[in-house]
Amino acid sequence: MQAWVIGNWKQNPATSHDVNALLDDLLTAVDTEEQVVKNSCRLMVAPSCIHLAAVSVRLKDTSVLCAAQDISAHSANTGAYTGDCSAQQVVDAGATWTILGHSERRQYHQESHECLLQKLTHALTQNLGVVFCIGETQAQYDDKQTLPVIDTQLSVIKDLLAQQPELTASLSERLIIAYEPVWAIGTGKVPTVAEVSATHQHIKQTVAGFADSLDTMTVLYGGSVNVDNADSFAADPMIDGALVGGASLKAESFLAIAEAFSRAMA
Ligand code: PEP
Repeated sequence: MQAWVIGNWKQNPATSHDVNALLDDLLTAVDTEEQVVKNSCRLMVAPSCIHLAAVSVRLKDTSVLCAAQDISAHSANTGAYTGDCSAQQVVDAGATWTILGHSERRQYHQESHECLLQKLTHALTQNLGVVFCIGETQAQYDDKQTLPVIDTQLSVIKDLLAQQPELTASLSERLIIAYEPVWAIGTGKVPTVAEVSATHQHIKQTVAGFADSLDTMTVLYGGSVNVDNADSFAADPMIDGALVGGASLKAESFLAIAEAFSRAMA
């Protein structure tokens, strides 16, 4: 089995010049460390929509995959939806995956169950893989509501399969779940590895309950993963990789996290 380390660049870097500088660093290092990273850890980066086409051109013929950070809920292709980018458009720009349901989208754009069901459907229709983010807020964590909250968020997948059972066979290849406690994102606070491990076990069991073919679901941890804590997350067999925000904006820290997961897979 391979680990996955995915960089979510969010609304960064500020300029095309800075995007290219980050890619220069990343690709030089990936070339050097090809053997370590390539065989046991897949790498993916998700630039902002404006940089997607340029980044995907530079990543073509490398081992690093390119993802969108979001797609339109309204249409899989074209339409009068000002400001949106569709699944078809991000595929045309070179993305092969998209992040969906990131907590910042849920919080700042009020993304609902129905909205995410639409986005998942559009992504899969256009053959985009989906990194589906779930996770509880600080208040929900304090109230010991983590598992019920993520069960509700995961029910989007159950509803998707009820609507489109034909997706079942191929879904495990095209879906990755990222468990990201909202209170750990960008805060430097992290749950214990034991807590993450137990939550991942629950996620894997829950998704396997939706369909037998989903019994090997890849589940990543996200939330303040950095060079210092990556080894401890990587060492747990329930944690199949990391979705990385801040630390993905420097090639050195991003690749150090990837190496931690590569070592753990070896
Ligand atoms: C994220 O936003 O997906 C994330 C995990 O951010 P950070 O690593 O900065 O906490």
